[in-house]
Amino acid sequence: MPHVVTQSCVGDGSCVHACPVNCIQPTPDDPAFELAEMLHVDPATCVDCGACVSACPVDAIKPHSRLDPGERAFLAINAGYHRVPRARPLLAPVRPPLRVRRSARPLRVAIVGSGPAAMYAAEEILTIADARVDVYERLPVPFGLVHAGIAPDHRRTRRIARRLDAIAADPRLRMRLGVEIGTDVTHDQLLDTHDAVIYAVGAAADRRLEVPGAALPGVASATQLVAWYNGHPDHADRRFDLAHRRAVVIGNGNVALDVARILTVDPETLADTDIAPAALAALRASQVEEVVVVGRRGPQESAFTLPELVGLSATPGVVVTVPAADLAGTSAADPKVDLLRTLVAGDRPGRRITLRYGLSLERVLGEEAVTGLRFDRETIDAGLVITSIGYRGMPVAGLPYDEATGTIPNADGRVLDLTTGAPLPGTYVVGWIKRGPTGFIGTNKSCSQDTVLAMVEDHNAGRLGARRDQPASNGPSSRRESMPSLR
Ligand code: NAP
Repeated sequence: MPHVVTQSCVGDGSCVHACPVNCIQPTPDDPAFELAEMLHVDPATCVDCGACVSACPVDAIKPHSRLDPGERAFLAINAGYHRVPRARPLLAPVRPPLRVRRSARPLRVAIVGSGPAAMYAAEEILTIADARVDVYERLPVPFGLVHAGIAPDHRRTRRIARRLDAIAADPRLRMRLGVEIGTDVTHDQLLDTHDAVIYAVGAAADRRLEVPGAALPGVASATQLVAWYNGHPDHADRRFDLAHRRAVVIGNGNVALDVARILTVDPETLADTDIAPAALAALRASQVEEVVVVGRRGPQESAFTLPELVGLSATPGVVVTVPAADLAGTSAADPKVDLLRTLVAGDRPGRRITLRYGLSLERVLGEEAVTGLRFDRETIDAGLVITSIGYRGMPVAGLPYDEATGTIPNADGRVLDLTTGAPLPGTYVVGWIKRGPTGFIGTNKSCSQDTVLAMVEDHNAGRLGARRDQPASNGPSSRRESMPSLR
């Protein structure tokens, strides 16, 4: 009876190293790992020991006999990955431990931000004997997008917070909530009191849609909507006009699917989640019956992942469809397109999500507010438009910034001076502000480990800044040290 990896896989590789027969692929050392939409158990070699089940931080792995009807597709997805035989060692290669030069005083590192990239960096640093980590978080709650980005109905994925809680519980880590770098404490002050500063500030803004009418009332970004329904304090007072029958989402990444699902699912199924109460009340009163998700390219270029499409198509009470004409010309065997073909169905009652393809937006229509969208091939009426075309990193006070990519320029996580191209001593980046807004929660683990490795190499070579003193115990950087547990 093989085990099966399902939708909530965050790809952090915990299961890979727990498996005694190396049957979960790709492994973190494999170049395919970074792009993999999920990990896959090989049903032919799985010995059914269940070690992966215990190791998975989000309960994504199940025995195949316990799959819910909506999860059965994952049996074929896991097996399909292993149809092409690949040579593999008996056990997955383990990342070598950090080799750290002994120094007169323990390494002390500041991490700015407390999302997954920050916490994975902290976990790696804390493998160094005596090392100390101070995590600085602007908000009163920790863990960044884990708290404010994962859809409330993705209950299992949100369990990654337990893993981050466990990292934060290390007595050598201090979590400082409600501290803003640039306002409460500067980069130079952090460098005075730490050997290194790692920025894990993510990508807090969204890419802007540059078409006429994009500023009309009724157009909002997915960043705003997601933050609103997740109770992000900066977005608590937002209002979205849900008094229309149709909403359109521009862009078809995983965020677009989250937004479409939350706008169409029966709100009562969200009542026992972490959704913000105001958002739940608004959704209960919503008139939205259809969400059209628009991709500018074809089905093969859908930005959403296969696991998320499987989950979406199994959403109770929501009909997910694709017009047959939008799938015309797709031929290659592609599991995503194969699943889209099964969604070409006639009219069925219920709230619906319609996936559209090959539509290039020319303008948002309306005088006082949005009334529709004009694409190159057709016009779609809508009273609400959500742009979901990707996140964008913001500049950090005192650090260089690459306007073109919305990232902090870096080499292997070492922040680079824009003029000289030389690394800024003791200054590093991890996560989306390092590599742009792509990848999954687990992608941040190897990203953060790579940066910590660069930092340790600099420490060993004597290239870190000369820290002067300890962080003040009651200064501006320690306004609040208590950390409310999310669970
Ligand atoms: P994304 O995956 O990068 O998707 C962006 C979408 O916007 C694409 O469809 C893109 O189309 C489109 N787009 C970009 N510029 C556009 C323009 N000017 N006009 C029209 N369309 C435009 O971004 P995301 O959905 O924000 O997700 C960010 C990352 O978080 C992804 O790695 C995602 O997988 C991850 N995430 C994962 C989960 C999950 O695993 N459950 C949930 C949420 C987010 P083109 O492809 O044509 O450029």
